[in-house]
Amino acid sequence: MNEFEFINQYLKPSNERDDTLLLGIGDDAATLKLNTHQFWHISTDMLIADRHFFSNESPENIAYKSLAVNFSDMAAMGAWPKWLLLSVAFPQLDKDWLDIFFNTFNQVLASYHVKLIGGDTTQGPITTLNITIIGESDRLGLQRNDAQIGDDIWVTGQIGLAAAALYHHWDKINLHEDEFKICEQARVHPTIRVDFMFQARNLIHAAQDISDGLLQDLGHILTASQVGAKVNLETIPSIQALKKYEYYNDWVLNGGDDYEIIFTAPKNNQEKLVSLAREASVPLHKIGEVTKNTECILMCNDKIVSYSKKGFDHFEEETTVY
Ligand code: ADP
Ligand code: MG
Repeated sequence: MNEFEFINQYLKPSNERDDTLLLGIGDDAATLKLNTHQFWHISTDMLIADRHFFSNESPENIAYKSLAVNFSDMAAMGAWPKWLLLSVAFPQLDKDWLDIFFNTFNQVLASYHVKLIGGDTTQGPITTLNITIIGESDRLGLQRNDAQIGDDIWVTGQIGLAAAALYHHWDKINLHEDEFKICEQARVHPTIRVDFMFQARNLIHAAQDISDGLLQDLGHILTASQVGAKVNLETIPSIQALKKYEYYNDWVLNGGDDYEIIFTAPKNNQEKLVSLAREASVPLHKIGEVTKNTECILMCNDKIVSYSKKGFDHFEEETTVY
């Protein structure tokens, strides 16, 4: 049984909605309606040492990333993060480590005016961080099931860099020093996209953050919306220098840990989106379009190319972890 079969079999059946709960299991966050112009979006993400980060990684990096992966779910909903709860398990309480960790943690929270409102603390065999984040907006979130035929498909930032850095760590390849520096920065410090996504929320149909691989995460949007897509491989933004490596296609199509946002939007909104992105200094690229045919077709130089869609699955036997 894989991760998604588990969610579908055991969790989704209990997914009943009510007048307040407009969106439950199956999206980047659940959505609660407080009143006609106030909605809360709630999501949780867990990070475990040597699964989501190297245990000898710097505490600054761990603190930043634990927040960035949660903020990216808010970005994917077009919500503004407001409050969070932090649950931790530590083998021991190491004051030096904690001083550095919370210095960064609090700096990121302060820069977004997000308040820590609770959590839980326990001793445990490995460092585990679980964050629940609550964001707000004036509308229902950007749901995965809202992609419309004819929409353009966009991605923020650059894709595949974190995966390339991981391959370097695992000794599968040897990136040049300057390439490694850029890719490692993307792995430990994914850019938070909530500002752009919040501003663009009314121009977008469906959205999701890319945590498990571009094709797999786009696949969630396509399945939920019962549509297909045509994606142009050469338009997926990445770093030119990575193209020479044999794993390049795998990094951009299936690599995870990007925490960029993939979204669909009506063609008519292109100009507004591009200008918003420019103002916010967010790299934004169109990589394809939503089609009626429910397949996801990958094109390269105007030819259909075959690919293996194998994004990240926590219960896949061959999954390599940190
Ligand atoms: P994300 O990558 O945005 O965190 P996932 O793909 O991990 O989303 O999860 C898909 C959906 O399943 C989400 O709506 C998530 O809240 C839900 N989900 C995952 N694990 C659990 C769980 N243990 N209990 C309840 N819901 C879960
Ligand atoms: Mg998500």
